Amino acid sequence: MQDVPEPGLGINDVKIRVLATGICGTDLHIYEWDAWAQKTIPVPLVIGHEFVGEIVEVGTNVTDFHPGDRVSGEGHVVCGRCRNCLAGRRHLCAHTQGVGVNRPGAFAEYIVLPMTNIWRHAPDVPLEVAAIFDPFGNAVHTALAFPVLGEDVLITGAGPIGIMAAAVVAHAGARYVVITDPNPYRRELAQVAGGVTRAIDPRETTLAQVQNELGMQEGFDVGLEMSGNGNAFRDMLNIMSHGGKVAMLGIPSPSEMAIDWNKVIFNQLTIRGVYGREMYETWYKMTVMLQSGLNIRKLITHRFSWRDYEKGFEAMRSGNSGKVVLDWQDIP
Ligand code: NAD
Ligand code: ZN
Repeated sequence: MQDVPEPGLGINDVKIRVLATGICGTDLHIYEWDAWAQKTIPVPLVIGHEFVGEIVEVGTNVTDFHPGDRVSGEGHVVCGRCRNCLAGRRHLCAHTQGVGVNRPGAFAEYIVLPMTNIWRHAPDVPLEVAAIFDPFGNAVHTALAFPVLGEDVLITGAGPIGIMAAAVVAHAGARYVVITDPNPYRRELAQVAGGVTRAIDPRETTLAQVQNELGMQEGFDVGLEMSGNGNAFRDMLNIMSHGGKVAMLGIPSPSEMAIDWNKVIFNQLTIRGVYGREMYETWYKMTVMLQSGLNIRKLITHRFSWRDYEKGFEAMRSGNSGKVVLDWQDIP
């Protein structure tokens, strides 16, 4: 933790006083300074990208945001000029820059972002929920990648994102929602957070057993891979119904993993990669689902002052946590 200059404001920018932040797995990689972080992060850099704050100043070109607005920032700053950006598919920009990864982030008193990256929150969204719109958006983007109404959904990995995705697909009308995770704390949290039909330990219960127990005639219709684990992904491919759809958010490490391609071909599976959030359709969907009864608040298990950020990272490292939120409101 150190003193850095206040970020400067360009004519198209918005300056935000940070009120609360979430800690992401990416932040933990940076905190631990692993091989990926060493080759990716330009130092010194303010990190962090999950945040909510209040606008304090706007650039001279900015007309529709005002001091006092409660906002979050989309974590990908896009070029605005490539084919996808021009077509309105900004989440598919080929030159995207990550907030708190490639450019200054939110674990600070102030953050400055282009106005095109600002999401103004509805007044009824609780502050700490607004702080985690970024990972909530990963969950929503993946969960809504394929229609789930009346479908049986398998989610591998009950990390914060998998758990939020379970709540989302249940809200969106899925029939059975089965989530897998070897970590008992996370299975318990998944049950408490809601939406889950069964939370199973993949080392103890097979997916075929669950299928049988639930009286499912066919395999799962939709799979959401949210663990980055090869075994989880292979188990998923084995249990998908013919024509099933799989959305992959989990980032495998190492990035190469073997699968039985005959499962994909003969069972005519669709596999789709998911990155970030759709700008800004995902943000809109998050808001309206919260307003229509979706509740993700139980997922926030740890709250600390920014002063105790080390405790926050420790809770993340333990794996026995949901979302960890830091409060930045008491900066002297
Ligand atoms: P997390 O690491 O907290 O959760 C992953 C969970 O998977 C853990 O609880 C772990 O116990 C579980 N797991 C490990 N092996 C498993 C197995 N064999 N079967 C089932 N579960 C298993 O991560 P998170 O923050 O919830 O994020 C989920 C994934 O999405 C991570 O891989 C993360 O890197 C990735 N991610 C991707 C994007 C994107 O834009 N594509 C954005 C954010 C996060
Ligand atoms: Zn672009």
